Amino acid sequence: MLPKRRVFDSRRPLLSVVVPCYNEAEVLAHTHDRLSRVLDGLPDFDCEQIYVDDGSADGTWDLINSLARSSGSTRAMRLSRNFGHQSACLAGLRESRGDAVVVIDADLQDPPEVIAEMAALWRDGWSVVSARRRSRAGETVFKRATAAAFYRVLGAISDRPPELDTGDFRLMDRELVELLSVSLEQDLYLRGAVSWFGLPETSVPYDRDARYAGASKYTLRKMLALSRNGLLANSSLPLRLPAYVGALALVGGATAAAVRRDVRLLAASGAFGVQALALGVVGEYLDAVLRQVRGRPHYVVGERLEAISGSVHLEERVAL
Ligand code: UDP
Ligand code: MG
Repeated sequence: MLPKRRVFDSRRPLLSVVVPCYNEAEVLAHTHDRLSRVLDGLPDFDCEQIYVDDGSADGTWDLINSLARSSGSTRAMRLSRNFGHQSACLAGLRESRGDAVVVIDADLQDPPEVIAEMAALWRDGWSVVSARRRSRAGETVFKRATAAAFYRVLGAISDRPPELDTGDFRLMDRELVELLSVSLEQDLYLRGAVSWFGLPETSVPYDRDARYAGASKYTLRKMLALSRNGLLANSSLPLRLPAYVGALALVGGATAAAVRRDVRLLAASGAFGVQALALGVVGEYLDAVLRQVRGRPHYVVGERLEAISGSVHLEERVAL
């Protein structure tokens, strides 16, 4: 879908920046400083920063408190325990009030300066502006290789894959934030959910820096859980696979039996084929249940045309 330029006549749009934080006391003061400088340099926007403490055990919350007290445009919330990055992002999105909302990591791997470019593209009408990693400094070969492999697999089997080499550093229009906020998905995989809604989407390339300080908070376990959620939420292929294999085994067995005129060849693959097919049928039901439980909207309206006293009035999809 094509974007439409946003025009704000009587007020400046509000830009919210959500920063999920888990044990980031070493970097936060610096992050707040750099982010504030970038946001102060956006003359066309009012801005707010929202820090979400995802159950940190170091001095993160105390630091966030003092940042919020010293800056009128900084708000903060603390989750009751560590719920994980995706939940922290969702909490921040729900807390945000901006016409556009950016999610950015706390560790300055995502340069806040990119936000200016994102905001300009949002004004041009794009609803989703993802930051696309051109390079990744300070990350292990293992992390880079597994990430590259995972996104390619996801891209191949997902109905609406997220753009390659993007993470959660992204600007989202209010409309999308509202859609995500009412999402019922338990194992949220934000970057996959975002693409699903089909709103005008673009990206800006950037060079991912090394962490400013501290170590990654994404343990291998958390990374595996995230990948699992990404696959389960964005592809039903694994559930369907047994049905395809079963059907193939039955057709193969029947063909071999016909060619060789030996019914035992069908019998040999038949039992396996029927079982796999039955598993695939159960998979179809499970897929239907999953879709129901996710509670995503049936559709998102792109544009609407209405006839008003003889002339055709185009209702902008975005609120002006
Ligand atoms: N984070 C979080 N909850 C967690 C793990 C991470 O809120 O359970 C935050 C973390 O503080 C950072 C962002 O998510 O702002 C990305 O985490 P990190 O930089 O450790 O991941 P990496 O960049 O190594 O993948
Ligand atoms: Mg990081």
